[in-house]
Amino acid sequence: MLETAALIVAAGRGQRFGAGSPNLGLPKQYLPLKGEPILRHTLRAFCTHPGISRVWAAIRRDDAGPFAAAAAGLPVAAVLGGAARQDSVRLGLEAIAASAPDLVLIHDGARPMVSAALIDRVIAGLAAAEAVVPAVPVIDTLKRVNGAQIAETVSRDNLVRVQTPQGFRFAALRAAHQKTAGENLTDDAAVMERAGHGVICVPGEEMNIKVTTTDDLSRLQAASGEIRTGTGFDVHRLGAGDFVTLCGLRIPHSHGLIGHSDADVALHAATDAILGAIGDGDIGQHFPPTDPQWRGAPSDRFIQHAHSLVKARGAMLLHLDITIVCERPKVSPHRAAMVAKIAEILGIEPHRVSVKATTTEGLGFTGRGEGIGAQAVATVRL
Ligand code: MG
Repeated sequence: MLETAALIVAAGRGQRFGAGSPNLGLPKQYLPLKGEPILRHTLRAFCTHPGISRVWAAIRRDDAGPFAAAAAGLPVAAVLGGAARQDSVRLGLEAIAASAPDLVLIHDGARPMVSAALIDRVIAGLAAAEAVVPAVPVIDTLKRVNGAQIAETVSRDNLVRVQTPQGFRFAALRAAHQKTAGENLTDDAAVMERAGHGVICVPGEEMNIKVTTTDDLSRLQAASGEIRTGTGFDVHRLGAGDFVTLCGLRIPHSHGLIGHSDADVALHAATDAILGAIGDGDIGQHFPPTDPQWRGAPSDRFIQHAHSLVKARGAMLLHLDITIVCERPKVSPHRAAMVAKIAEILGIEPHRVSVKATTTEGLGFTGRGEGIGAQAVATVRL
């Protein structure tokens, strides 16, 4: 069997990536997708493919820390990349040369959805060609523009969009890179074309997106995200006072809720539900009741922190459903304001929040008016 190496190009700085990411400053290949760095998904696809004998990654010197986290436990050798993509591949090929593989697949670190079948097609194509690229049809109508003005409609005939992994005879690609060094060509097929080699296409895959903007990442998450559910439950005792805090709202009542913080049972249950959905402990662990800094604290801070942990994973809180259990105060007059308040606290759309209430028909501690209970379910897309 021919030896096939894979070189993952992960030395980009992600200059085209938009602002607004909770992990701003990290190059895009290290941003989280489904709870793991994008690059880890990419590396795993090649490390676990039976047709690939060895995996290399070209990275930036500054990214050694995030790379170590992304590659933890995976058999990947890192090499330092260069200023431009073409330089990174050339330097990677020189590092790989000592192990003299027959074939090499070059793949973008920010294309995490590469399938085993696509890797198979590229390798199979190399039986009859020196260079193979995956290609997908151009579906949208193409226009050439002058600023905002359309200058002409461009025929789609014979046009394709080219992806990675691109596969090559190793010696041919290495020689072509040596010959074209410094030309700033945007893919390796172009390097081979420039050096006079033929390149053939095999079918690519629409899901094999290169994450270039935050929109791309959102699209990938929407298409591939895993749905997780968490539940939360909380009770606080009623005592002296003239208001209760529920869902972040101060509601006049004949008693008050007793607790270390503002004793907002609804937000506490919701916070635990969110933490449960991402498997990150519980509210007591993140905000120990023995810690004086949380005395009388508004529970907005607890739920906002849980939500920030969701966002830091690249995940999204899809829905939060809260049930308040008490005889009094009556919740229904406050329900719409509670939904609006939680949406505001979390910075999410109100349709993603539900607040319900029930009594226990006069039974138990809630029935006797000794306390208020709440339960919550959070749905998160990882
Ligand atoms: Mg509590």
